[in-house]
Amino acid sequence: MKPLIEIKNLTIEFFLKNGNLKACDNISFTIYKNEVVGIIGESGSGKSTLASGILNLVQAPGKITSGEVYYYDDEDNKINLLNLSVNEFNQYRWKEIATVFQAAQNALNPVLKIKEHFIETVLAHSPNEKEEDILKKAEEVLKHVRLDKSVLEYYPHQLSGGMKQRVLIALSLILDPKVILLDEPTTALDVITQWYILDILKDIHKRLGVTLIFLTHDISVISGVIDRIAVMYAGELVEYGEVDDVFQDPSHPYTKGLLNAIPTLRDDVTKRKAIPGNPPNLIQDFRECKFSPRCSIFLEGKCEADREKTKKMYFVNETQCTRCYKYAENLNIEYYMEAVGNEPIKNR
Ligand code: ADP
Ligand code: MG
Repeated sequence: MKPLIEIKNLTIEFFLKNGNLKACDNISFTIYKNEVVGIIGESGSGKSTLASGILNLVQAPGKITSGEVYYYDDEDNKINLLNLSVNEFNQYRWKEIATVFQAAQNALNPVLKIKEHFIETVLAHSPNEKEEDILKKAEEVLKHVRLDKSVLEYYPHQLSGGMKQRVLIALSLILDPKVILLDEPTTALDVITQWYILDILKDIHKRLGVTLIFLTHDISVISGVIDRIAVMYAGELVEYGEVDDVFQDPSHPYTKGLLNAIPTLRDDVTKRKAIPGNPPNLIQDFRECKFSPRCSIFLEGKCEADREKTKKMYFVNETQCTRCYKYAENLNIEYYMEAVGNEPIKNR
């Protein structure tokens, strides 16, 4: 597996009147070429901030206070995205990394026909492109989202929410990107439409081999689509791994809680348990494990919630990592490895 995007020790803070809010706290994570990754976490855990960090679009009062984001192009050249000028970054945005932003359905300009969105997007990157060629390409990408070319003549208000979302996915494909970041792509859509859109995205992945990164609070929607999962809590990654491993043996109590809260068609909904408590205020200097106030292991007195020990990730197998040091301590020593950056090293 070749790396595509390497996030290293990325910290993003918002400088607010009442203090500094650390929305992304020292995140290190590698996304590989052609995979489908889900980044999961409840609202406010830092997903959208992470997306804006990857795209170097963090705006005041926010700031990237440390870390790097590397992109590997087709020739495996390693590019530090955060060192690029605005003009240089525009070479990568859309052409290499496309995005479907949260609440994107409102992003379409109501006074422009759908075709004008395609034309404007392409011309912004390739000013010499001919209109008829752009429209031909637009028809092709609309096919991928199962829309007829006739929608090119429509205005946004003539489309349903699901159709708008499909137009935006088609728009993200117009410059043949290598990766698409999808921030809550199915939120605000009804369940049937959610499944339909995921099916379309699965198809696009299979046909075009494009890497997909889903950011969502809803683990149940994307669990059938993703190869790997990364779980965020209060600005930190708390666990990541292959989806089957994580679902079978979640290593972090927060992941366990998320999985316990998924309703299934057959089971008794009253047995589904939401995680007790609320996420912490992120304007604070954490002295204990961020999850401890909601963690049953801590509340039962079986963990010290040592903040320092939660500043590392621990490998529980070759591909699965956890921030829960109690889980790691209870494991076979051979597998107990720290992750420094992205390189595992034997800890003891
Ligand atoms: P998610 O996408 O997981 O819901 P966000 O990245 O939107 O989370 O937010 C993470 C944290 O950063 C939250 O505490 C949120 O209130 C804060 N935050 C996000 N954007 C801003 C902003 N522009 N100004 C101040 N705080 C922000
Ligand atoms: Mg968000």
